[in-house]
Amino acid sequence: MSGLESLYQQLILDHSKQRHGEGDLPDADASHHELNPTCGDEVTLAVRLDGSHEHVDAIAWHGDGCSISMASTSVLVDLVTGLEVDDALARAEEFRAMMRSKGVGEPDEDLLGDAVAFQGVSKYVMRVKCAMLPWVALEASVRKALTAE
Ligand code: ZN
Repeated sequence: MSGLESLYQQLILDHSKQRHGEGDLPDADASHHELNPTCGDEVTLAVRLDGSHEHVDAIAWHGDGCSISMASTSVLVDLVTGLEVDDALARAEEFRAMMRSKGVGEPDEDLLGDAVAFQGVSKYVMRVKCAMLPWVALEASVRKALTAE
């Protein structure tokens, strides 16, 4: 294992233990529950947008599952909180592209930050859904918030 790979594994382990954003979100605009039946991971992710629906003001979640799914959710909170809604959805697309890369190519570290740690996971088909879980929940939750009155 390369030094970088072990660094990334440590980052995933740390986030799976110190879960950023885990908890309730008062005044959430929408939330979405997403299940990954192949691994048994689940997450309910709530979002709050600003009044004009331009920014993601806050994210909070409850979940249970493997360390990859839990760490991915924690990293997502760090990456997406405070972003413009369009940028948040673009980042989800970028993450999806990386998870489909099968470990090939250079992920955009400016866009993905610590989430590049999950690139190695993309080599393992069974674990891709674990890492994608919160991003799918984010997309669904944001779309619900945008259409809610
Ligand atoms: Zn999992």
